[in-house]
Amino acid sequence: MDDCVFCKIVAKQIPATVVHEDEHTLAFMDIGQVNPGHVLVAVKKHADNIFALDDAQAAAVFRSAARVSRAIRDAFAPQGLSVYQANGKAAGQTVFHLHIHLVPRHEADGMELTWPVKNPPREKLVDYAERIKAKLL
Ligand SMILES: [Zn+2]
Repeated sequence: MDDCVFCKIVAKQIPATVVHEDEHTLAFMDIGQVNPGHVLVAVKKHADNIFALDDAQAAAVFRSAARVSRAIRDAFAPQGLSVYQANGKAAGQTVFHLHIHLVPRHEADGMELTWPVKNPPREKLVDYAERIKAKLL
């Protein structure tokens, strides 16, 4: 896409600090660096979000995320690592080209995610599951 910043990074029209590249993915340092070693793994072929991925892209982007995560662990020895991926503005997506954040984590590092559980009854879980199963291809 002409106006997509990540497409421009993939096309080398905008510089990025690349850590890994393969047929389907490009991994590069997030310029914001929530913590040192924060990497983005993006698909090369434009996809707005997870809903637009084909199976090869989906497999490749998580394979790269796992490989780069192990390298971040070995290079920075964080206490943990968060994998963050957002789809749609309501989910917090700001760059509409699929990417996965790999964020090295440390106790009290300031990164917060509220998790407002609703704990519905089992019947609701079954209903939700049936709705999803009916749409699986
Ligand atoms: Zn793009």
